[in-house]
Amino acid sequence: MKIINVAGARPNFMKIAPLMDAFAAHPGIEPMLVHTGQHYDEKMSDLFFRQLGIPEPDINLEVGSASHAVMTAEIMKKFEPVVLEHKPDAVLVVGDVNSTIACGLVAVKLGVKLIHVEAGLRSFDRNMPEEVNRVLTDAISDYLFITEPSGVENLKNEGVSEDKIFLVGNVMIDTLLKNKAKADESKVLDELDLNGVDYAALTMHRPSNVDDPAVFGRILDAIERVQNDMVVVFPIHPRTRNNLGKLGLADRVDAMVNLRLLDPVGYLDFLKLMSGAKVVLTDSGGIQEETTILKVPCITMRENTERPITIEVGANQLVGTDPQKIVAAYERVVGDNGFSPTVPDLWDGRAAVRIAETLAG
Ligand code: UDP
Repeated sequence: MKIINVAGARPNFMKIAPLMDAFAAHPGIEPMLVHTGQHYDEKMSDLFFRQLGIPEPDINLEVGSASHAVMTAEIMKKFEPVVLEHKPDAVLVVGDVNSTIACGLVAVKLGVKLIHVEAGLRSFDRNMPEEVNRVLTDAISDYLFITEPSGVENLKNEGVSEDKIFLVGNVMIDTLLKNKAKADESKVLDELDLNGVDYAALTMHRPSNVDDPAVFGRILDAIERVQNDMVVVFPIHPRTRNNLGKLGLADRVDAMVNLRLLDPVGYLDFLKLMSGAKVVLTDSGGIQEETTILKVPCITMRENTERPITIEVGANQLVGTDPQKIVAAYERVVGDNGFSPTVPDLWDGRAAVRIAETLAG
């Protein structure tokens, strides 16, 4: 079975890495890798390929940054000839970025089977660009590989036939478990002078949080309170950094003496930063899952989550963007010594192997 695997943006790389490993090791599967170039620089892309041992992409579409429509269209235009030339038996896409839906559409229009890894997740918020990508990709996929039970329910409710649905676990957690020991050796805490220091880790980049000055400002109100209490380490997404300037919030952030703004850090350093943190504040999807396994309390600054299992097992709190609620959640977790979330079923490091075995029959 010849499979073209697609990766485009940072959260795709930790998902594609274990799949490429499992496919290379399976005699029945011949994998190829296409990078769309949605994220393209050293800090958002190349570093992850090196650290995670992802093979050099066979093809890079080099689409770069653009509006959603232009990017999706560019990826489709450039991906179609690749599929026509290499004639795969299937195209595999992961997650919920523009590359996911763009390459998915190209595949099905050419009559090529489509595999979606991390299918079925739903925030039920169509204002999120990722939610639109998820719903559309799932609607046209032939194999839907799922990380958590809610995904199975969601797909059944949307009428997806059960023989396409496979609950296999979480490839992102495959990568975390494989790299945890290496991450423990990262020197990032020494470099930041954070050894033995209580600190919180912060990430945010969702348009709903960082495009609107009122919402972004409310979150900063909460962060201001948290950094009065402990150091807050903030590896900042390029989109968020851009918006700080555009929305006139840079001075406010600069004035917070305990808030440490960093460029985005590599995967191993970020795992180390999360592992050592008292608490992680985020609007990321994947980080809600990683903190669950690292057993670090997660506060999700969003109104909804497509990953409800992280809340059910006791690892994650969904608090929205009201500063009082964020601070109240922060106070709860730092005062709580009984924090002991359980591990979701099948988040055991073998999801990619299960996917390979399912596909190769
Ligand atoms: N991550 C990283 N360095 C950073 C911030 C995040 O390696 O500075 C990793 C994080 O551990 C997770 C992934 O990037 O594996 C999450 O990506 P992101 O938050 O961009 O996407 P989302 O999960 O929200 O789609």
